[in-house]
Amino acid sequence: MSIATKEIEAGRIWDFPGGIHPPEHKHRSNQTPIAQLSLAETFVIPIKQHTGAPGDIIVAVGDHVVGGQPLTDAGLNNGLPVHAPTSGTITAIGPGRIAHPSGLPDTVITLTADGRDEQVTMPPITDFHERGRSELLDRIKQAGIAGLGGAGFPTAQKFALQRPLDYLIINGVECEPYITADDRLMREHAQTIIDGIEILLHLAGCQKAMLAIEANKPEAIAQFESLLPHHPAISLRVVPVKYPSGGEKQLIQLVTGRQVPSRGLPLDVGLVVQNVGTAYAVARAVLAGEPLIQRVVTVTGDHVERPGNYWVRIGTPVAELLHQCGFNPGPQQRVIMGGPMMGFTLPDLTVPVVKITNCILVPSYAELPPPAAEMNCIRCGACADVCPAQLLPQQLQWLAKAKDYDGLEKQNLFDCIECGACAFVCPSEIPLVHYYRKAKAEVRQLAREKMKSEVARERFEARQIRLEREKQERLERHRRAAEARKKAQAEAVAKGADDPQDAIQAAIARAKARKAAQAAAAAAKQSDDESNV
Ligand code: SF4
Ligand code: SF4
Repeated sequence: MSIATKEIEAGRIWDFPGGIHPPEHKHRSNQTPIAQLSLAETFVIPIKQHTGAPGDIIVAVGDHVVGGQPLTDAGLNNGLPVHAPTSGTITAIGPGRIAHPSGLPDTVITLTADGRDEQVTMPPITDFHERGRSELLDRIKQAGIAGLGGAGFPTAQKFALQRPLDYLIINGVECEPYITADDRLMREHAQTIIDGIEILLHLAGCQKAMLAIEANKPEAIAQFESLLPHHPAISLRVVPVKYPSGGEKQLIQLVTGRQVPSRGLPLDVGLVVQNVGTAYAVARAVLAGEPLIQRVVTVTGDHVERPGNYWVRIGTPVAELLHQCGFNPGPQQRVIMGGPMMGFTLPDLTVPVVKITNCILVPSYAELPPPAAEMNCIRCGACADVCPAQLLPQQLQWLAKAKDYDGLEKQNLFDCIECGACAFVCPSEIPLVHYYRKAKAEVRQLAREKMKSEVARERFEARQIRLEREKQERLERHRRAAEARKKAQAEAVAKGADDPQDAIQAAIARAKARKAAQAAAAAAKQSDDESNV
């Protein structure tokens, strides 16, 4: 065992560069158990709620569906199905507002609930240790499970690559201010999370899992301290309070000391990371056959009467969620999906809760003032000091404004995890993350256009090559035909010279043809003369 592995096994906690300590505001929502939100009358289900292609729609307007019934088929690509959150009738399929910073519409399925809340589940798999990987991966995929920590990457896909892994890391850090959904889930459903970790360990094919929790969640830590002695393959790691400890690369560095290379994946350093909410959803999908139709959402902020955590059916409009929690909007009220650091302001409240929605924040003006007017960069360097990815945020900002995409590439723009730590400390109130998100979108768009023009160029070149080949083939056919004709004539001439009888017959035919032509010309002349009379 290497020294580094020994240190990991001994529970050493490393540090990562930068980081900040924003006010936590977690106590508001973590004091009461998770409550069940009443069913909405109408649900809006975007068909794409994960990283990857959407599934194919398999229902039509007018269909009656039950809760848990798939509305899309994952197909053979990296799609994931979405499911009906309750029973009712499909009343519309088409473009609708979705929860995305761009505010752009996407295809949504509208379901009008019948209030009976009939449900369908898949057969439970309780002997998962005896089952093959492909069966379990297919179950997780059919249950529509994507990483619930925020990225929304299809969970089965993360485990599909069979690469040797040293550890499975379970992320229960939840470092973003205000959000307490994972905290309450860990306090109230620790055993189910452990069941999910056991299933994920089986899939990962590694011997050990580390469950990381930030030190500001003593109740959750106590729950696992009491249960984990019965699960020797899983060990607890309590990490210091610092934002963004829950970032995937930052957490890996904290609990293993390993650094994921630029543009690399945890797999590259022998690790795979999953969120505690995902582990819970995996356990429910495998052991109880439940597809992912609900999740825990933190509802908090000065303008909500009953802050707390709620089991919310996916597809519930944010307006309905806030209404049930006692929403008292102030002037110019902002409603943020996610936390104050990485969340985004919703374009309107018709957008629904989706698989990756962990928080709805409705702050007062005083609590979270809107961004002030942007001032010039004073080159103070504060942003670089706090960047956990060791980037140069001020340079990235200049390059993004100048649309210098090569420069952005050189400065590793895509290593930015959009944590917002740089913007938090910037004295000039520069919305740095906004510039990075915009630049990333532009770079991706350029890459898509480049790929399209590459494909068009390849098609054009292939067509030119085909046309030239066909031309050459045609010329060759003509050449061969001409040769064949020449050869036949030569043979005929040679044959005629050799055979006097053939020559005589040919001379007779030529004489007959000449005579017939002269008779036809005479008849035509007579006809012309008669018509002139
Ligand atoms: S913190 Fe703001 S003002 Fe200071 S260097 Fe960074 S971008 Fe410029
Ligand atoms: S948002 Fe990006 S550039 Fe800013 S601190 Fe976080 S990782 Fe660094």
